[in-house]
Amino acid sequence: MSPFPDTEYPNFVTHLECSMTGERFEAHKVHGLSPAGRPLLVRYDLERLAQALTKEDLARRTGGFWRYREMLPVQRSENVVRLGEVTTPLIAPRRSVAHPERVLIKDEGRLPTGSFKARGLALAVSMAKELGIGHLAMPTNGNAGAAMAAYAGLGGLRATVFCPSDTPDVNVREIELQGAKVYRVNGLINDCGKIVGEGKESVGWFDLSTLKEPYRIEGKKTMGIELVEQLGWTVPDVIFYPTGGGTGLIGMWKAFDELEQMGWIGSKRPRMVAVQASGCAPIVKAYEAGEEHAPLWQDAHTVAAGIRVPIAVGDFLILRAVRESDGFAIAVDDEVILAARDRMAREDGILLCPEGAATLAAYEQSLADGRVSPNENVVLYNCATGLKYPMPPVDRDLDRTQVIDYGQFGN
Ligand SMILES: *Cc1c(COP(=O)(O)O)cnc(C)c1O
Repeated sequence: MSPFPDTEYPNFVTHLECSMTGERFEAHKVHGLSPAGRPLLVRYDLERLAQALTKEDLARRTGGFWRYREMLPVQRSENVVRLGEVTTPLIAPRRSVAHPERVLIKDEGRLPTGSFKARGLALAVSMAKELGIGHLAMPTNGNAGAAMAAYAGLGGLRATVFCPSDTPDVNVREIELQGAKVYRVNGLINDCGKIVGEGKESVGWFDLSTLKEPYRIEGKKTMGIELVEQLGWTVPDVIFYPTGGGTGLIGMWKAFDELEQMGWIGSKRPRMVAVQASGCAPIVKAYEAGEEHAPLWQDAHTVAAGIRVPIAVGDFLILRAVRESDGFAIAVDDEVILAARDRMAREDGILLCPEGAATLAAYEQSLADGRVSPNENVVLYNCATGLKYPMPPVDRDLDRTQVIDYGQFGN
């Protein structure tokens, strides 16, 4: 059980800080982007936090990422929205990868609403509730909208969602079914984001876009804490992360820093690999050009909808983490992504989402070009359940009124 009753978790937030300029802002107030137009990061008194919380305390708790309450910004437990969060498993594939003994898959598809967007949105919605915000809006390629809809519904907040018109139908329907109002827009996610931004004043909704408020990143940070805890408070050599807006990569990078400052891990960092699809690879292009920012990618297209993000407000934070960690950014083709998904499903029984399959494809490409060695321990992030995505058709029918040729089943 927790050492603190559920209503009395101490809070260690000291202030918010602009990720670009370092300017400080008061915590526990409504914030969007910093005046410099960049993401705000939550800062904690990590020294006091390390005295108040032990690894043993955590080991006794259940409740998925909410176990890390003291490392998160929500003050009052009445504002915490819970949908049965779980610690997501690390799965060892057996046959479908080149060096199975070196590979673990962190399967985030087990979270509520079927994707790791639950982590970020649970935190963002809880904080919105705590700060008295009544109406949330966001652009989404599907999973974030679903997570926002579910948590906002539970928390009693209104939710409005805008998604590109070719968003998988299952996502559009689940968003609506979970209580949000969803609109299909004839454009990409950045076009949807523009609508949310422009409607702020007239409608009065709060913009919950990736990195445009400070708390989704705190939720995504728990992916990093959870991973090192599962690995006995050590880090893997390499992390392959399917990168859209980059919240998860930036969040994990922040988690490793905070854990080191708490004295819970050492200075070793995983090499962070940002994986994108060839049809939408702004971060890869900027990485290869040695740039600090990634301009808008034209005509973005990929089957991996979650990473179809032509421009990212946190581009410099992604690139910084990739470079500081001695990682890299890599693009993979859609056909290779789908082939990797199909092979892992068939040979290992693990149904990745296309974004997750992109990390498998990128790992194999990196082994082949020598950027990753077969001796390195790698973690691949599967960020959503593969069940939410279109799957290859099956055209095998059997007529039970005809004589059945049982010979066909044997080989
Ligand atoms: C959102 C999403 C991503 C990208 O995550 P970011 O942290 O925003 O880069 C990857 N895969 C899936 C399935 C997603 O829904």
